Amino acid sequence: MLKNIHIEVKNYEGDFYFKNGRFYMVSKKEKEIKNPLLQLERCESLLRQLLQNLGYKIPIEAYVVFINPEFHLYQSPLDKPIIYPNQLPRFMEKFNRRPSQLNSFHQKLANQLVSLHQIESPYSRFPGYDFAHLEKGFICAVCCSLKTSVVDRNLVCEVCRNQEKVDHAILRCVEELKLLFPEMQITIIVFHEWCGAVVSNKTIRRVLMKNYSVIGEREYIFIK
Ligand SMILES: [Zn+2]
Repeated sequence: MLKNIHIEVKNYEGDFYFKNGRFYMVSKKEKEIKNPLLQLERCESLLRQLLQNLGYKIPIEAYVVFINPEFHLYQSPLDKPIIYPNQLPRFMEKFNRRPSQLNSFHQKLANQLVSLHQIESPYSRFPGYDFAHLEKGFICAVCCSLKTSVVDRNLVCEVCRNQEKVDHAILRCVEELKLLFPEMQITIIVFHEWCGAVVSNKTIRRVLMKNYSVIGEREYIFIK
């Protein structure tokens, strides 16, 4: 019987655990991650609706496949459609063993699916934004929180406890600013405001002068 196999591929790396239907990272205390099973369910439902709209009634088999050999899930549920890295060869073998013969029906469905494929996502349109209205702060590289502070030349996140060298964080945020506002003249004053004034002008100047060619004087120094 023809079946549609839907596979959600995840490249998670590291130790995770499963508890009460949720996924958590082991290293970050109680840090919940996006549930791939929910993602799978949603995609499966959308795919089913799409097939129905096209006039096909094909059962769907859906799996989450973790492909990274460095991935491990503690307390993994037996009753969920999850394939782990070391199960992949057997998983593939299972499909290879299924007899199949392609005919015009498959061809027609394949052509329809290809014609519906959207290269540009309609969700990639950005909302409007400007410097004055964006919330300022030194954003955490891991969890994107603005609740950060500088302790001993490290940027420390109050939410996920991630630590990053301040120099590195400054460069990262300068690059973010350049990406968000390609036309903007990034001076020390602008960056000082952007990062919520948690580092001194002196530190910003030192990092900018070391890593970029700059023009101007004192706090009006800007990146070329
Ligand atoms: Zn964080």
